[in-house]
Amino acid sequence: MKVPYLDLSVNDKNLKKDLLAAVDQVLSHGRVVLGPEITEFENLIAEMCGRKYAVGVSSGTDALYVSLRSLGIGPGDEVITTPMSWIATVNAIVLTGAKPVFVDIRSDLNINPDKIVEAITPRTKAILPVHYTGKICDMEAIGAIANEYGLLVIEDAAQAFAAKNSYGIAGSFGQVACFSMNAMKVLHSYGEAGVVVTDDESIKEKMVSLRYAGTVNREDCVIPSLNFRIHTLQAALLLVELKRIDKIISQRRRIAAHYEGLLRDVAVCPHEDTGSESVYYTYTIQVDHRDELRDFMANSNIETKIHHPILMPYHTAYNGCFSTDIPVAERAVQRILSIPNHENMTDDEVDYVASTILHFYSNKIV
Ligand SMILES: *Cc1c(COP(=O)(O)O)cnc(C)c1O
Repeated sequence: MKVPYLDLSVNDKNLKKDLLAAVDQVLSHGRVVLGPEITEFENLIAEMCGRKYAVGVSSGTDALYVSLRSLGIGPGDEVITTPMSWIATVNAIVLTGAKPVFVDIRSDLNINPDKIVEAITPRTKAILPVHYTGKICDMEAIGAIANEYGLLVIEDAAQAFAAKNSYGIAGSFGQVACFSMNAMKVLHSYGEAGVVVTDDESIKEKMVSLRYAGTVNREDCVIPSLNFRIHTLQAALLLVELKRIDKIISQRRRIAAHYEGLLRDVAVCPHEDTGSESVYYTYTIQVDHRDELRDFMANSNIETKIHHPILMPYHTAYNGCFSTDIPVAERAVQRILSIPNHENMTDDEVDYVASTILHFYSNKIV
């Protein structure tokens, strides 16, 4: 048996038919730039996140950048974030001119709110938590700190569309929240796409301006920016994907529960707090002998990933630029392994992945 990490080909005939019909519709009406599918997509996203406004942009990275700029974050400001994310998170902060400040994570790979207060300085402007692996951060604690110190909160919810906890849904917590819909994500386009949600009309207006060269009425540039418009074709494809998102998530959650039942004695499995529902963008286990296990699985034709093997402050572009005190993240990054958990997996494949891992550890003293 061969288990790919992810298979992006569309094999479901009905899904393919719907996607092609969506493309056909855009080609027929011809309003390919900021077409009606974008407004429809934005309205649906805002509604699903319990927000007043959504602004479609060209990627999750751009969503972060446009958000930060719409909040006026720039040179001289500090933004508190996690060391464990895709590098886009910190690139977006740095490219506004602001300085990222890294706060260590908890064992669930999300930022540790107990460490945030000691990282606050007079320059701190915002907290940018990342709902890593599709699990919502401790937003109650983060919100309380933000209120007390007068800080903005920007959610990087790129991995967590439709994830819930007992207080709300991903994207409903910060002044703004950012999603990525790139082809890998749980809600995904067939290319690049992103969206930002907010309840604040003036922030929404700024984002609309920032996504198109900083213009007002698409004419007069009032603030320098680049082109971050979402493609109408991607929005049209996303409208099709939105119809099956509940099914995708419940399938991923079913696989996750299955894995946990089989693997909890040999691996630290993702943990769900009471009342919360992760969407399992990745099913990331934490294990001893990680690299050896990964080789063993590769030899058994199972593709795995390490999300992400380099902590953000230690990428070449940033190494040595920022002081860090992140021992939990430094240990976790040596132990994380993302195993296949996409919605098209068969039960046999899930069992094969789990039994391969169990087989590996049966020869080890854990
Ligand atoms: C995917 C991702 C991004 C960037 O999204 P793109 O659409 O790929 O630009 C940002 N942050 C996190 C946590 C992500 O997983």
